[in-house]
Formats: sequence, structure tokens, C-alpha cells
Amino acid sequence: MNTVKNTLRSISSDLLVARRQELTDSLPLLDQVLRGSLITRYVKCGKSNCRCASGQGHPSLYLSSLHEGKTRLIYVPTSWEPWVQQRLDNFHRTQDILVELTEINLELLQRRVQD
Ligand SMILES: [Zn+2]
Repeated sequence: MNTVKNTLRSISSDLLVARRQELTDSLPLLDQVLRGSLITRYVKCGKSNCRCASGQGHPSLYLSSLHEGKTRLIYVPTSWEPWVQQRLDNFHRTQDILVELTEINLELLQRRVQD
């Protein structure tokens, strides 16, 4: 990400500090995060007369997440998809913000600018 660093180098310290504040203010609520991804699995219901018996099964939504080194799948009812998706998005936004805050702080460190 050389372009980002080069861009930061040309920005005044005051603007970097202002950008840092803007990023901090835009942090999602940290109690509303989930790490993982939504996946669709096709499950056969087992009924011999169901259309899924000869097809690929019924689509079911799962949250796939790493838990103590293992992938854990948690079933997500369709009505819960927005709730889960919002928290997955919050996690990624938080991660992006932390990365940018770190870049700014590195630049300020190099300039020996303290808060
Ligand atoms: Zn079925």
C-alpha cells in the first residue's frame, strides 16, 4: 500500500489528526460485531417424495466462523440474515478503520507528533 503511505506523507499533521478523529467517530458499535462469513449449504430434508431428493437440496444459510482453531457453522434463519450481515460488515469496517488509524499513527510517529 505504498500509494496510501505516499499520500499520507503529503498531508499536514493537522489534517491527519482531523482524519483520525473522523475515523474514530465513524467506528461501528463495538458490541455489534461478528467475525466470519455467511455461506449457503444445500441440505436434503430426507423426505423421499420431496423435490430435493433428486436435486441439490434446500438452501440453508450458515455463519461460518473460526472457533478455537476449528470452523464452526451456526444455522442462520433467513429473518436473521440482516442482523448477522450488519455485524459482519461492522467487523470489516472496524478492521479497515484500525488499519487506517495505524497508518496515520505511524506517519505521526515518524514526524514525532504526539497527541
Ligand atoms: Zn426436501
